[in-house]
This record gives sequence, C-alpha cells and structure tokens, in this order.
Amino acid sequence: MPNIRHLTDQEINQIAAGEVIERPASVLKELVENAIDAGASHIDIEIKGAGRSLIDITDDGHGIAKDQLVSALSRHATSKLSKYDLIDIATLGFRGEGLASITAVADINIASLAKDSQDGAWCLQVKAGQALQKLSPEPDHQPQGTRIQVKNLFENVPARRKFLKTDRTENTACVDIIRRVALAFPHISFTAQIDDKKIDYPKVLDGEPGRLDRLARIMGAEFGRSVLTIHAEREDVKLSAYVSPPTVHRGNGALQFFFVNGRPLRDKMLVSAIRAAYMDVLTKDRHALVALYLTMPNEDVDVNVHPTKAEVRFSKPQLIRGLIISSLRAAFAKGADGISPISVSAVEANLKNSSTSYPSAFQSAYTGQSIPSRSSYTQRYNYSGVSESSQAPLMDLAPQARAYMPTTEPITVEQSEHKQDVEAEYFPLGAAKAQLLENYIIAQTQEGVVIVDQHAAHERIVYEKLKAQYSEAGISAQKILIPVIVTLLEEECDQLISYQESLAKAGLDIERFGPDAIAVNATPALLGTPDVDKLIRKLVETSGDWQPDEALEKIITYALATMACHGSVRSGRRLGVNDMNALLRDMEVTPNASQCNHGRPTYVKLSLSDIEKLFERR
Ligand code: ADP
Ligand code: MG
Repeated sequence: MPNIRHLTDQEINQIAAGEVIERPASVLKELVENAIDAGASHIDIEIKGAGRSLIDITDDGHGIAKDQLVSALSRHATSKLSKYDLIDIATLGFRGEGLASITAVADINIASLAKDSQDGAWCLQVKAGQALQKLSPEPDHQPQGTRIQVKNLFENVPARRKFLKTDRTENTACVDIIRRVALAFPHISFTAQIDDKKIDYPKVLDGEPGRLDRLARIMGAEFGRSVLTIHAEREDVKLSAYVSPPTVHRGNGALQFFFVNGRPLRDKMLVSAIRAAYMDVLTKDRHALVALYLTMPNEDVDVNVHPTKAEVRFSKPQLIRGLIISSLRAAFAKGADGISPISVSAVEANLKNSSTSYPSAFQSAYTGQSIPSRSSYTQRYNYSGVSESSQAPLMDLAPQARAYMPTTEPITVEQSEHKQDVEAEYFPLGAAKAQLLENYIIAQTQEGVVIVDQHAAHERIVYEKLKAQYSEAGISAQKILIPVIVTLLEEECDQLISYQESLAKAGLDIERFGPDAIAVNATPALLGTPDVDKLIRKLVETSGDWQPDEALEKIITYALATMACHGSVRSGRRLGVNDMNALLRDMEVTPNASQCNHGRPTYVKLSLSDIEKLFERR
C-alpha cells in the first residue's frame, strides 16, 4: 500500500504556480496588475531575454510597508479581499497567489517605499523556491512605489522552460498584455523596453477622448480615423465599443480587446459575438479591430473561475451576445448616416494617380478580401483598377453565406419619425440630381455630395431583402406561366440539378428537361421578370465553385447572392429621378448598405469641406 503524505509548501507552491505562471507574459501580467491595484499612475517595464533572464517592473503606487513584504510573497495572502465576499471584486488581483507563484519558479527581488513610510524603503531578495520564514527585509533606496525584478524564470523547472516558445512569440505575448492593460487603464502611462522593442503609452485625458487617443496609439492611425463608436445598453449591461468599419481589418485577431468591468480578458463568447456581428460584411479570414468595454453589476460576472482570471462566467451570456451583435450591426447598417466608406485623401490620391480608376480606399477595402470573378464585368464596366485581382471565383461571395448561422438578431435601423415630411436633401443619402455614365447616381445632401454605384447598391438591397425573406417566411417565388427552357451542356444540367433542392428554397424552381435542358418554372418574386436564360447561365458558371457537400443553407446563400447580383439594376440602365431617389431611400434602410455583396463600397460621400479641400480652398 502506498503511503499518503502531505505535500511540502514548496511542492504546493510549484504546483499552484503551474496554473498561474505559464510563461513570462503571465509574470508580467501578475506584476502589472499588482501595480495597477496599488494605484500607480506610471508603470515602467523592462524585459530581457524574452523574460527568461529579467522581468523588471517599477510603479509609483502606494508601496508595501516593511512588515508586509514577507506576507506579500506568501501564498493566500492579500490586502484586497476585505470581506468574505468573492462577488464584489473591484481589484484585478484578489487570490493572493501571484507573487507566491512567481517566487516558486523564479528569483525575485522586491523593493518598496510605502506611502507615508517613516523608516524608508526596504527590500527582500528571494531565490526560487526558497522558504520565506527566515527572511527579513533590508534597507534600500527607492522612490515611492514598488520595483519587482524577476530573474531566471523557470530555471528550477526545466520542463516548463522547455515549453516556452521562441523569443519572438514570448515577447509578443508580453506586448499583448501591455496593450490590454493600457487600453483598460488609459489614465496610467506605460513605458516598456522588451528586448529591442520600445513602447510608450503616455498619459491621456480622462473619459472618451482619452480612450480614443490610447486606442489610436495601440490600434494604429487608420483605426483612429475610421473608428465606429458605439454606446448601447440592455437591462443593466452597458456596452461601449470602438470598432473598425468593415473596410479596416487584419489577418489575425491580435487587435481585439475585451474588458468587463474594467478587467481585460479574452472570452470565447465575446470573440464569437464579434465574429457574428461582422459575419455579413467581412470574409472569414479577416479580423476586425475591436475594443469592447462591458459594464454590468459585479454579481452578473464571476471572475473567480480561472486562475489567471483570463476567463469569466456571465450570468446572462445571451443578453450580452445579443447586445453586441445587434448594436454593431446597427452601426454598420447605419453606414448611410455615419460611415464614409472613402475619405477625401483617397480621392486626392486617386486624382494624383490617374492611372488607376479606383480610389485607393476602395482598394484597401479589398485588401485580403477575395474578389469575385469579374473579368467580363471588369471589361464591360471598366473597373480597370482591380482587373488584375479578378481571377477568384465569383462564389468567394461566401461570407454572405454565413449570414445564415443562427445568430441573427433583428436589425433595426433607426429612422427619424418625420422622415416623410422632410425634403430629400435631409436624408442621409440626399436627393438624386443626376445619373452619370449610366451607373453613378449623384445626389446632393445637406453636407455635400454622395456618389452611388447603382449596381452595387441595388445588389446589396436585393440580397438583404432576399435574406430577410428567406429567414422569415421563405423566399416567395413567382411562377412563370410557360416554363422557360434553357439549353445547356449535359454536364451543366447535371451540376445544376444536383442543387435543385437548395435552389428551390432560394425561390428558383427548376427541373430537368431532357438530357441537355433545364425547365425553369419559377423565380424569386423580388427579381421581377429577370432574363431567365442569363440567370441560369450565371448560376451554372458560379455553381461550379460551390462545394456539393456544403450545408444546404450555405448553398442557398450562394444562390441568393448570385441571383441578387444578376437581378440588380445593372449599370448601364438609365434611371429617372424618382427611381434614383427610391434607390437611395431603399439603401438608407438596408442593413450593410455601405458595401455591396462583394465588400466594395456602394457609395462615396464627399462633404463640402472634402470638396473644398480638393480645390484647395481649405
Ligand atoms: P493579490 O494581487 O491577489 O492580492 P499577489 O500575490 O499578487 O496577490 O500580491 C499580494 C499582495 O502584495 C497584494 O495584495 C498587495 O497588498 C501586495 N502587493 C503586491 N504587489 C504590489 C505593488 N506593486 N504595490 C503595492 N502592493 C503590492
Ligand atoms: Mg496580484
């Protein structure tokens, strides 16, 4: 029989440290959190050897008194949990195991001058795993605050050390920690030297302007210029979100930050809510830039479910998810009002560089997004600026397909009550004045001029309507009195018929008509009286890229997207003023109206001041 024995303190500490201290960034996180809890206004960080040799943090907080130094390093010793109350936690730390865990796996040097100290500063030096009982502080020199140096991390736990990643990866993790706390606490200034990388986040103003300043510093100037600010509230959950418009994105999610009651964290539910919010306007492989700040009563969020507090448990996850998705989507949809998909600088750049016919902001809207095959489209409509990248299959429209994941909340686009009464110019997209080149509607608004790509705009409108119909009562199809027979190659017929069921759900009723023909019995009513022959040929062309084993829903959205594109007011069609105004009004109430199904902007807004800038009047 094996004997049961009690673990030694040292063993207990090392086991517990395994949970809290996984890598250098975890040390950094614990130390920075302590500095913040101590009321620091400036925090200085130095990291050497990717944190293996040194993690050195100095703060100007309230410090630690001489007689508290040993306790600070002891396990389950904290000054932050005053009552028997694990619910109402206002500090970042509370478990009293940060410093103890670090001491178990690294050498630590802690020096502090406590506020109002009568006997100066004191320090303690502890070797990894050393027992604390016999330690006593020694006098030190140190301005008010605390400096903690952590050296030789994991030297006594070779197994851990082996699991560390490359210096670069470990340093990136450290930078990420600093960014997160810097976004959570803009009133604190940070300086850091992480091997070769320097970081400087100066103090900013209080309130939203300061937050936006800090955001721009961390997320970049482009984000700063284009950020959508959202404030929303549901029950007692408040959301402040600062997010990129769908035209600004990155290849990874590193610039997505979440804060709950001021606490930075990364939570799967929140990440997935963001994904869902952008689903319809961003391809899957791109990531929005996001900082979400949620506040809710402390009893609605349990921060004590994870040793490093990286995860939390919400008591109302669905409410929070819904709040995020609907308010972000409303903000994108409101594009007609706020988001200008293109700025004057892009127009200027374009004027200077007339060899491209596409303003640079349009191209940036493309970055990383797959571009539908428009070789014919390109030539016909002369979108020459993007022709070189037009080889991708049309069915890269797939992001739209994801609209069908069952997350959708109804989207409400706010409309002013007296909309009918005001002149067209008071509408966000203004009053149509002219149609140019048979595709561009020029409208005058209160603030300037709007140029609309009528085909792109109509495509979005039709697509959104089809989707709405589909998710409500199903697409209403319109029977064709005498079925239209479309002759195709035999294998084309096979291909299309294999999607018969999906197409029927998308409002297109087809059946085989002999070996090399398809009979079309009904088309989606929304398309009016489409050119059936062309529509079918388009579907044959695009369905070649569909994956037959893909979910029905997905295929349906592909089909809807193709039909929307085909069924839209093509460029080249002349529109009267009433038609144009109707299109503008339609756009204003259509979700995601500022991009077409392919993610291209549907309109450009030039404010009077933009125009004046172009003519150098400003
Ligand atoms: P916790 O943060 O959960 O309380 P720690 O082990 O991280 O546990 O810290 C233990 C205690 O040491 C804290 O409660 C605090 O009183 C003190 N302490 C740690 N770091 C600092 C610091 N930088 N400034 C002032 N006090 C600190
Ligand atoms: Mg702590």
